[in-house]
Amino acid sequence: MIAVEEPRPAIDHAVLTNRLIAACRDVIATREADLCDLDRAIGDGDHGTNMRRGMDALAAESRQLAAMPLSEAMSRAGTILVMSIGGAAGPLYGTFLMELGAALRNVEAWPEALRRAVAAVARRGKSAAGEKTLLDVLYPLRDEVVRHTPLPLLAQRVQGFAEMTIDMQAMRGRASFLGERSIGHMDPGAASCALLAATICRELAEAGIE
Ligand SMILES: [Mg+2]
Repeated sequence: MIAVEEPRPAIDHAVLTNRLIAACRDVIATREADLCDLDRAIGDGDHGTNMRRGMDALAAESRQLAAMPLSEAMSRAGTILVMSIGGAAGPLYGTFLMELGAALRNVEAWPEALRRAVAAVARRGKSAAGEKTLLDVLYPLRDEVVRHTPLPLLAQRVQGFAEMTIDMQAMRGRASFLGERSIGHMDPGAASCALLAATICRELAEAGIE
């Protein structure tokens, strides 16, 4: 008898996609009120509700997204988020996913795809680092991915990125009208971004992705 080595089971992308969407939806639903509270302090108080609507819309198409090739699923998910989240955050999250989808079609490596997606968000929001937006989570997140920080460790660190926005003065969006009074509050977009990033890192690590 010839011993045949069992191949390592391949990651089932459909299962993983469904799991990622469910986990993102759960974390946003759990923290919806907190995100609204953060937005109420420096904005109009709807960020949690908007994000919840976005995650519900993704979940409603979860099975169709899971059946698509990854890059296509990302682009479609981005379109869903633009249409469902609305506000300032919808176009930013949507741009991120659409650009990630496009980049994954053209480049092999995740760090490069992520770099392109974050740059697209900065262009879309006409925003830079330190302006108290979700970019203040995305930039350090990108840098950690480039450095190949292990996913479980990254999951622990992203909340700290969002906390860095507390001492920043808002330079973009409604919060910027508050000027110095925006200092002392966490940016709601950075907060939702950190929640989602930590959730995705944990789910990917659990799925055996390094
Ligand atoms: Mg708002």
